[in-house]
Amino acid sequence: MSIVMKPTATKSEIDQVIEKIRSAGLRADVSSGEFQTVIGIVGDEKKVDFDQVKSMGGVLDVFRIQVPYRLISRSYIPEDVVVKVKGIPIGRDNPPVFIAGPCSIESYEQLFRIGKAVKEAGANILRGGAFKPRTSVHSFQGLGMEGLDHLESVGKDLGMPTVTEIRSEVDVELISKHTDILQIGARNMFNQDLIEAAAKTGKPIFFKRGFSAQIDEYLSFAERIVANGNRNVLLCERGIMPLGGSFKSQTRFTLDLNAVPVLRKETPFPVFADPSHGTGRRDLVIPMSRAAIASGAHGLMIEVHDRPQEALSDGAQAILPRDLERIIKTSNVLYKTIRESESPFSSDVKNGNGHA
Ligand code: PEP
Ligand code: MN
Repeated sequence: MSIVMKPTATKSEIDQVIEKIRSAGLRADVSSGEFQTVIGIVGDEKKVDFDQVKSMGGVLDVFRIQVPYRLISRSYIPEDVVVKVKGIPIGRDNPPVFIAGPCSIESYEQLFRIGKAVKEAGANILRGGAFKPRTSVHSFQGLGMEGLDHLESVGKDLGMPTVTEIRSEVDVELISKHTDILQIGARNMFNQDLIEAAAKTGKPIFFKRGFSAQIDEYLSFAERIVANGNRNVLLCERGIMPLGGSFKSQTRFTLDLNAVPVLRKETPFPVFADPSHGTGRRDLVIPMSRAAIASGAHGLMIEVHDRPQEALSDGAQAILPRDLERIIKTSNVLYKTIRESESPFSSDVKNGNGHA
């Protein structure tokens, strides 16, 4: 259930509703927007007489949220959520945020070189994989703990927040001490134990969509992050498998940019796109980055290498730092143009959802 307060509701009216919910032993999550307050209920709803709540002062409406991912739905939190990472605001109408760096951390020197270059190109957050999810056991598996140390040192040396992927719940405690954002990758999107353990750290979670996940499934698993008390959710469309196994694709995955405005409509959390894994091809990263920003993405995750031919993983999709610079420049222009022309997605997001 969600309780929508009237725009004119006073603080004491809001407090009385919250008290009523809490005294019945339920959780009341309060979202105070610019125009109105919405109170979400978590717990056994049979314990509260909602007809009575509906007649309380300042209450506009009480309604049932139909979707399975109600805690992250717009009905529950009507206004865009801003997630802050070391002072960098992500989401709502903030300028796009760029997460860039190599697929894998290969050495301190490699990460420092690339990190410095992506910072100079305008990237905000440094990425690098230490524990890599690989299809083949014979491929480079990542430097593990040593890579994590490099990420932490380079992040400090360059003054950049960092993100790295976490593959197993066993590593959550260790990895969360060394990085600012925990990434849960496409292959682990359905991993309930990992999601819950990562969520409980309270750190921002960069939660990628599984390549075979429907949006409803994706959001239902993202729901687990918030259900475990963590509202620092960053979503990311990273490409899905082309439908039908016999369809021969020109790309590694299909970057589903429909997902960007759909996610923005369904949930108030920031939405990223990853054109590197989404295409698997360096020559497509620039055009698909533009498309992602134009479709309403709050940021991009991009793999960059200064010597792509020598990269130990995903060299074919790594762009050069100077290409990243072009992407960031163009993205900022696009963002500004779209904002100034009142983007269709932002007005749709505001008006398109019954109670929002
Ligand atoms: C990555 O970001 O390095 C990665 C492996 O991504 P994904 O989980 O989307 O494949
Ligand atoms: Mn990669």
